[in-house]
Amino acid sequence: MTLSKEELERYSRQLLIPGLGQEGQEKIKAAKVAVVGAGGLGSLVSAYLAGAGVGELGIFDFGPVELSNLHRQLIYRTGDIGTAKTELARKFLLELNPGVKINIREGLLTAANAAEALAGYDFIADCTDNFTARAAVNQACFDLKKTYAHGAVYQLEGQLTVFSPHDGPCLGCLSPAALRPQGDSCVKHGVLGPAAGAVASMQALEVLKLILGMETLKGRFAMLDFRLSSFVVAELKKRADCPVCGSGRAGN
Ligand SMILES: [Zn+2]
Repeated sequence: MTLSKEELERYSRQLLIPGLGQEGQEKIKAAKVAVVGAGGLGSLVSAYLAGAGVGELGIFDFGPVELSNLHRQLIYRTGDIGTAKTELARKFLLELNPGVKINIREGLLTAANAAEALAGYDFIADCTDNFTARAAVNQACFDLKKTYAHGAVYQLEGQLTVFSPHDGPCLGCLSPAALRPQGDSCVKHGVLGPAAGAVASMQALEVLKLILGMETLKGRFAMLDFRLSSFVVAELKKRADCPVCGSGRAGN
């Protein structure tokens, strides 16, 4: 996969980075990434990945842009209220980088459809805000032997890691208390825009590092407290009786 003159110019600032170069850019161009969720995290993750030149992006979401989204979901505009996020995201991303292929899928990812939806992608970014989709992504990645970047944000706090559920700890290995409140957490608890932006930027970085074969947060869990400016990274361990990847799984 060679790069055109226009691509060499477009990506010239990142091509200069040691360990990236033309070979790394070709890997980014060949990569297919699913971004599950086009809200506070996913809208910005997909923008960074399209900007960086990821060859094919899948955007998964459901529902329209609302006025209360706009303080953090910066790819949408006030005039977009009421229009489906997936359609708007595709338009934004293609205007940002016409060289990227964008697939959109409207609807909630569930245990019944996640594996089929994600099978065609190399890596996944879990940018969802509901436990049904999070659990579905984790289970599908276990079944498909895929690696994904998990991000979550809550008020002025964020969390971030990389899971390879078939080869290391997974979402189900975390203690339930370590998970953020589920459901529409932004609706119930609030979120500050730049906190979502910080986690989204880091999540996009983890995806790009996965593509490039660089060291990631796999096996470690980053807890970001922006109120205290405290950033802690803890070791993650596989739980023997995990209901997804361990002895607790169905049929085991
Ligand atoms: Zn597990």
